[in-house]
Amino acid sequence: MHELTLCEALLDLLDDEKARRGFRALRRLKLEIGRFGCIDPDALVYAFDVTTRDTWLDGAKIEVDRRPGRARCLDCGADVEVPDRLADCPRCGGRRLMPTGGDQMRLVEMEIVA
Ligand SMILES: [Zn+2]
Repeated sequence: MHELTLCEALLDLLDDEKARRGFRALRRLKLEIGRFGCIDPDALVYAFDVTTRDTWLDGAKIEVDRRPGRARCLDCGADVEVPDRLADCPRCGGRRLMPTGGDQMRLVEMEIVA
């Protein structure tokens, strides 16, 4: 499962942060996930809950903020935000959009227990 792999990458990242900053536990973390990615946030949250059970991350709440995708319109040349890959250009209604971003996962906030 794709989300499980992502979740493992996230746990590695959190382990590193813990080692670097020396906190004891995490109360909450917030992720930004681009809409162009093929990540299912519910599956990710579920994978996180399962893989952190009985670890130092047990009980940490995970929040997901979905970011709009970004694309360049080949018709009017605008850089626009779009809700999904099949959307029309919100500026000119053109259909030729080239995705330029919005498929990333980013850790944006951590509430730590020192
Ligand atoms: Zn356009």
